[in-house]
Amino acid sequence: MNRLTYSDGVPAVDHHSHAGYVRPGQRLEPVSSWEIENALGHVEGHTNHDDYQEWMRLTETGHSEQANALGASLKIPQLIAESRKFQQTTVNAIAIREGSEALYGKHDAATVDRLSLEARQQDFVGLYDQALLLSGTTSVLTDIPEIDATVWPHSRYRPIARIDPYLFPFGHPDWTGRGTDAPRFRRIFSNVLARQLEIAGTELPSTLASYVEFVLESLQRRKEEGFVGLKIASAYVRTLQFERTDRASAEAAWATLSSSTDVQPAAHKALADHLAFLIAEWAVGERMPMQIHTGFGHTEPGLRISTADPLLLEEFIGDPRLNTLQIILIHGGFPYSSHLTALAQMHGNVHVDFSWMPYLQHHTMSRLLEEWLELLPANRVMFGTDTGAPEIHVASTARARRALDGVLEKGVRDGLWTMRQAGWLTERVLHRNLCDVYGIEP
Ligand SMILES: [Zn+2]
Repeated sequence: MNRLTYSDGVPAVDHHSHAGYVRPGQRLEPVSSWEIENALGHVEGHTNHDDYQEWMRLTETGHSEQANALGASLKIPQLIAESRKFQQTTVNAIAIREGSEALYGKHDAATVDRLSLEARQQDFVGLYDQALLLSGTTSVLTDIPEIDATVWPHSRYRPIARIDPYLFPFGHPDWTGRGTDAPRFRRIFSNVLARQLEIAGTELPSTLASYVEFVLESLQRRKEEGFVGLKIASAYVRTLQFERTDRASAEAAWATLSSSTDVQPAAHKALADHLAFLIAEWAVGERMPMQIHTGFGHTEPGLRISTADPLLLEEFIGDPRLNTLQIILIHGGFPYSSHLTALAQMHGNVHVDFSWMPYLQHHTMSRLLEEWLELLPANRVMFGTDTGAPEIHVASTARARRALDGVLEKGVRDGLWTMRQAGWLTERVLHRNLCDVYGIEP
């Protein structure tokens, strides 16, 4: 690999990671599991809706024998193999190969699978530590419901708490759309809320007032445990258009939802909107930064792209009581990337990160970095990987460093920046901006 002009030796702090996230009951899987997960979109798009839903239900509830039998009759293994063949030219597959080679050496796919599974089973934390070391990453902010700090030290793995579980105390209206991604997010949110209620030693309170008390205490406790920021992942299950909803309307929504089992989308939204503003105001007081997912989702349908447009956040961002909430719009917001640029340009408390892009997009990432670094002040852009796979962490960090270096070299050549400014921007993007916003050191 060529030596990098600016980013060589500059420590990185990963703004958005999922390190340490093993879903409850989930067994450790080899690195190819990421390609198989990506194949689900292809499977869903070539299988009758009801059959697909049934196969996924059996798979996700651990009925593997029945799932395999149904899968065989639906030719799902063939569809997965076909999808993996077509994925080979994507940056995602390339990144998986690059990162695997960096960690395990050059091997055929079957050996990489064996080595990646063994490394996880033997010492998952050690493998992640090694990935960070290879990448020059000193710490990651990890989006995770709970993390055992005795295993994953907080100095290196700093947890971020999603607020979404608190927004939907009465669950969600039934899912009748395509795919299993949105209902999976809903399930995860519900499970995290149930777990937080369990930790607090309580059931779902009967009044909104006591529920709000529980929510703020739960967030406060997690902050004291070492959570350094909050995240909204709601784009996966609803619109980003959060509207300030007064207490009386929220009380009315609470009464409707607690007394009715009918589908009440308007009441769900009113209550969630009220709670989102309430938690954001708490975050202002506690100086907890807030990450927000914007833009497209996974390879399976579920997230509605039109309601994940960051411009829908204008009411939330424009709220006078939230003007000092430090907001980081994550993932580069594809296909709305320039909407992020404009929002950050017009609001001094709004930042952008390009997590996820390093292992999904190549030229697009460089183009977006050019746009951001030319238009935005130096304190707004943050690096991130958005992965829980050590292999992808290694590849994403290397790809991000190369893209950043390339953009800076070009900017220096064009006379935009001096070499010294380019070096300064490298440090700002790779760790300093994050450290300033979260009040931590790399
Ligand atoms: Zn993520």
